[in-house]
Amino acid sequence: MPAPLRLVETTLEIPAAADAVVIGGGIVGVFSAYYLARRGLKVALVEKGRIGAEQSSRNWGWCRQQNRDARELPMATKSLDLWERFAVESGEDTGFRRCGLLYLSNSEEELAGWARWRDFARTVGVATNMLDSAEATERGRATGTRWKGGVFSPSDGTADPANAAPAVARAILKLGGTIHQFCAARGIETEGGRVSGVVTEHGTIRTKTAILAGGAWASSFCRQLGIRFPQASIRSSILSVSPGAIGLPDALHTTAVSVTRRGDGGHTLAISGRGRLDPTPQQFRFAPQFLPMFVRRWRSLAPGGLEGFRSGHESLARWRLDEATPMERMRILDPAVDKGTIRLIHSRALELLPALSRTSIAAAWAGYVDSTPDGVPGIGEVATVPGFILAAGFSGHGFGIGPGAGHLIADLVTGDEPIVDPRPYHPDRFLTSAWGKVADF
Ligand SMILES: Cc1cc2nc3c(=O)[nH]c(=O)nc-3n(C[C@H](O)[C@H](O)[C@H](O)COP(=O)(O)OP(=O)(O)OC[C@H]3O[C@@H](n4cnc5c(N)ncnc54)[C@H](O)[C@@H]3O)c2cc1C
Repeated sequence: MPAPLRLVETTLEIPAAADAVVIGGGIVGVFSAYYLARRGLKVALVEKGRIGAEQSSRNWGWCRQQNRDARELPMATKSLDLWERFAVESGEDTGFRRCGLLYLSNSEEELAGWARWRDFARTVGVATNMLDSAEATERGRATGTRWKGGVFSPSDGTADPANAAPAVARAILKLGGTIHQFCAARGIETEGGRVSGVVTEHGTIRTKTAILAGGAWASSFCRQLGIRFPQASIRSSILSVSPGAIGLPDALHTTAVSVTRRGDGGHTLAISGRGRLDPTPQQFRFAPQFLPMFVRRWRSLAPGGLEGFRSGHESLARWRLDEATPMERMRILDPAVDKGTIRLIHSRALELLPALSRTSIAAAWAGYVDSTPDGVPGIGEVATVPGFILAAGFSGHGFGIGPGAGHLIADLVTGDEPIVDPRPYHPDRFLTSAWGKVADF
């Protein structure tokens, strides 16, 4: 079942040429196109399905610095400012609010980990408040539970996944950029090794710059160009409940269940990190890279079914540019909900937060979380195909850092001072295989 999503009206008629073509209309693609259009570039964005319809509408909406990897923290900090600034600049509403995020725990080990992160975060000027037992119990009073401790990160917040990517898309259109839904990019044309066009199912757009923000489809697209990008998707199931629960924190994480207020007054309920691994040909190919991550997460990951094969996002197929590709056969990746997980989430949430008993389940959906082996996205121009910029593998954190990632991509295209140091994200780090050799295709 698709997640709630505001629809955007666009045209199928593609331009003959553009300064930059963005492939993929998730949060990363729309913010990339937005920042390019703001700098006066002629931008075209092509999306095989609907704006925001894959991961970018299926997430919890958390925009956080809390517990971020050191490499991603600068981008997370900048993104929080950019979310705020976007609303002022564009007049569009993504639902972003700095409501603060609350983490509660009874595990000494978990609390010690958060305290270590707080000490690190201080060194880079990020404030987060450790809560003692009395403070955690007070902040978490809706749970009616006594907590050993917790964290409150006051400068973090949430945006509304149903509205965010569509709001940015509307802002692109106001700036004169064009957006083309139901228009899959099939491949890239090159001249003298450089990008010279993006081939779509509706024709070719001449351009010297192509940005691939294709989420879970990025690796298979890269393979057509001889670019090695290890990527694996984890199927994560979540649900939303109707409005009616009063007095809950806006965004609460516990090991048992996490709860987030939605733009419509309802709540999203989920279990952090829990997911299913649907085997795919691509997963077998990159298994050596992903094994350490899967082993670390073995408690929360369960084997899935065959739908990863059926949906085609991780196939090893080579496709032609003059006939339909797997992207046109699967306009919106809408994986099956894991019903057992939905039942478990709901029962844990009702137990943790009795106020939720006044609500009913509104919807349940699943999304494929596209991950890299080190949990950090690949963002940067690919050396072997000048003009081709990859921006994918956001590993379950891409919604919150979408604005910072989009800004960085625009900086790379226009040669402006990058908003953050781009080096930790560069996809070159994936060029060697698990055995240390440069991969062959
Ligand atoms: C259940 C769940 C919970 C999450 N919670 C959070 C959270 O709280 N906070 C957070 O920061 N992140 C969260 N995430 C992760 C976050 O949603 C993603 O990292 C982020 O949305 C990725 O954005 P994207 O633009 O890279 O990809 P997507 O949103 O997946 O967009 C990629 C788009 O590219 C299109 N596309 C692909 N190939 C082509 C092509 N060849 N031609 C045209 N179009 C193409 C696809 O149709 C798709 O619309 C969560 C994810 C899930 C699934």
